[in-house]
Amino acid sequence: MERGVRRWDALAENLRARVNTATSVRREEPLGPKTTLRVGGAARLYAEPASEADLQALLREAGAHEVEVLLLGRGSNLIVPDEGVDGLVLAFSHEIWSAFEPRAAGRIWVGAGLRLKSLCGRAAKAGLVGFEFLEGIPGSVGGALRMNAGAMGGWMFDVVEEVRVMSRAGEVVTLAKGAMHVDYRHCAELQQAIALGALLRAPPGRTETGAPADADAIGRQIDVYRRKRQESQPREPSAGCVFRNPVGTAAGFLIDECGLKGARVGEAEVSTVHANFIVNRGAASGADVLELIRRVRARVREIKGVELQPEVLLFGKKWEDVL
Ligand SMILES: Cc1cc2nc3c(=O)[nH]c(=O)nc-3n(C[C@H](O)[C@H](O)[C@H](O)COP(=O)(O)OP(=O)(O)OC[C@H]3O[C@@H](n4cnc5c(N)ncnc54)[C@H](O)[C@@H]3O)c2cc1C
Repeated sequence: MERGVRRWDALAENLRARVNTATSVRREEPLGPKTTLRVGGAARLYAEPASEADLQALLREAGAHEVEVLLLGRGSNLIVPDEGVDGLVLAFSHEIWSAFEPRAAGRIWVGAGLRLKSLCGRAAKAGLVGFEFLEGIPGSVGGALRMNAGAMGGWMFDVVEEVRVMSRAGEVVTLAKGAMHVDYRHCAELQQAIALGALLRAPPGRTETGAPADADAIGRQIDVYRRKRQESQPREPSAGCVFRNPVGTAAGFLIDECGLKGARVGEAEVSTVHANFIVNRGAASGADVLELIRRVRARVREIKGVELQPEVLLFGKKWEDVL
């Protein structure tokens, strides 16, 4: 135990020695408060890189010591286990990752750490139509690219032209959308590579001319989406939809039909508003959430014969090891 602690302390010192002072490197950083579900333990190592060079240096140092590197966006699609994460968590919370730069012909360059809410609001202000569907997804650009986040009939990759990425070895390249393999809640290239930022453009038909649209009209569309969410999603802390929708049906519908709305383990509860959300009623633990997920899956399997697959990610672990 003591040897383990000393090893992590020494690694933290190594990391600090290789980066600028603007890059914060911390030990035992609590991760729960950095997620929307608010459960789980700490990162043995945690850093907020303040430049691409520092990100590279952190990756190379972690690689040299065989330390697992995990990426954290806004933590809105993650469950952190109670024991935390034995690795280096890199968060894109430094302001250098929050770029929003309008470019020619309706394009925008956005940094990986920019909040989708901010992207949506600033695009509307700039009269750029086509980004309204992102309203209410509580993630960052990086997390939305990795998950190909979608809502209201739109997908993140509908608005992507290219993504600037860094490999785990620290090499930077720009990938055109056509060279990327994207699917439901999935982007193959970003399983490993790290998104640094992306060039976005609303799909043709919306902004063919790149001419600014009426900001008020965009704002009204955003309000419509916001109201839809308020009516259909719980207000309590959650990680969004827990399970992927099986082909031809909705996971929430199946869970509801099994009478599971309101089912609880400790302070984790199947939302009474939307059955595919598990909410934290206050002091839920990661273990409560995982046990509730197991029970929901077992019941849906028993009654409906459907094996639900998690859409949320278990930070630093594989679902098959805990389900
Ligand atoms: C109330 C609520 C509503 C939601 N509604 C929706 C919805 O309508 N549609 C939808 O699709 N999702 C929804 N979600 C889920 C979630 O918001 C999205 O998946 C979002 O895109 C995750 O972004 P994030 O920044 O929070 O990523 P995180 O949860 O922090 O991370 C998600 C994954 O992305 C990886 N990642 C983070 N940053 C990078 C990076 N720079 N490069 C590469 N990988 C990276 C992480 O390692 C992790 O694997 C909802 C969640 C909540 C809580």
